Amino acid sequence: MFVDKATIKVKAGKGGNGAVAFHREKYVPAGGPSGGDGGKGGSVILQVDDHMSTLMDFRYKRKYAAESGQDGGGKRCSGKDGQDLIIRVPRGTLVRDAETGAVMQDMSRGEPFIVAKGGRGGWGNQHFATPTRQAPRFAKSGNPGEERAIVLELKLLADVGLVGFPNVGKSTLLSVMSKARPKIANYHFTTLYPNLGVVFAREEVSFVLADIPGLIEGASEGAGLGHEFLRHVDRCRLIVHVVDISGSEGRDPVADFDVINAELAAYSPALASRPQIVVANKLDIIQDDTLLEAFRAEMTKRGLPFLTLSAATHQGIGDLINLIAETLQELPPIGIYEPEFVPTEEKPPTPEDLTIRVVDGDVWIIEGAWLDQLLGRVNLDDYESRMYFERSLEQAGVYARLEEMGIAEGDTVCMANLEFDYQK
Ligand code: GDP
Ligand code: MG
Repeated sequence: MFVDKATIKVKAGKGGNGAVAFHREKYVPAGGPSGGDGGKGGSVILQVDDHMSTLMDFRYKRKYAAESGQDGGGKRCSGKDGQDLIIRVPRGTLVRDAETGAVMQDMSRGEPFIVAKGGRGGWGNQHFATPTRQAPRFAKSGNPGEERAIVLELKLLADVGLVGFPNVGKSTLLSVMSKARPKIANYHFTTLYPNLGVVFAREEVSFVLADIPGLIEGASEGAGLGHEFLRHVDRCRLIVHVVDISGSEGRDPVADFDVINAELAAYSPALASRPQIVVANKLDIIQDDTLLEAFRAEMTKRGLPFLTLSAATHQGIGDLINLIAETLQELPPIGIYEPEFVPTEEKPPTPEDLTIRVVDGDVWIIEGAWLDQLLGRVNLDDYESRMYFERSLEQAGVYARLEEMGIAEGDTVCMANLEFDYQK
């Protein structure tokens, strides 16, 4: 079974907690704090694997979690970092944030992409010693890793997409033009997944051709298989539109041609506006020349490049390959989607995200990105700056929260490497 869309959950590792420990040594009665830092949580990373051609693996496994960082230890030992988790995807996979649908990354270029970042490790108590608190009995806990649902969508990287009704000879054409060996049979819907083939036109000139199966009337509204596969032609620079000209199935080539184009337009107007080369196939078993001539006249009237050939006898194949190679030279490269997703990290942090916890009954630890940013802006040795800091905490409701949680006069408040006694 061909799978080209999957929703999975990714979870990066949590950062390890900082340790609370004290140096113990013979003849040293009261050693200093020696709690080590927690290790970094592992990230979840996507990586292109050119041996993969479908998203099948993701049908059976939907949850992916990277390892957490280990907690810090005594003797200033840092915890081990969690290992990154690498998830392999086929080239051309588009990654979207499931919640918003925004494009996070287009896995076409081959660079690895961090889809969920591991949490930072917490500082051990070795960092919190100050002249007034020589034996800090607290450490920072590790940050949680990022966690999100993502949608993986395979959009093949093909220069040329073959479209047309079932049975017109697309798969046969792909197989004779390239080394690909798709399934070929004389009934509709033989091709259940898109096939890619590399076509060598001449030295150093080649292109990738995709056989897009099952485009039929109503495909863009979900009938048949076509709709599922239209996303694969999204990126194509050129469309080769194949029509059966033999009359063996009693079809009207002009009507068929219009139906397929209407399908493309209904799916994506951008796709419908790609340049097209029209190919009349099955020339070897043509029964009625008037059908061919009427079709040729109509396409010429519309100003479309037109070729007749036989995929069965290979007559005209060389001309098609040359025409495609020439046309591609004039066209822009394969489209790459630009990321439009703003990671939550880059949203400004707010005081609501601050965490407040009590240790040892009377030490209040306040942590959070908002606070880190505020501390980065102030110089606490400067009176004015200190007042600004105080005011900001007040306005952000930090003191109100502490009161509500039951802080008492004289308790200790810790923020980053800052600590002071609480006074009402
Ligand atoms: P697709 O559904 O468009 O991929 O069509 P296929 O490539 O599977 O071909 C459908 C049928 O038409 C198969 O039986 C092919 O052997 C046959 N066919 C394809 N091209 C030609 C051709 O040029 N001449 C003749 N006589 N038969 C062809
Ligand atoms: Mg086919």
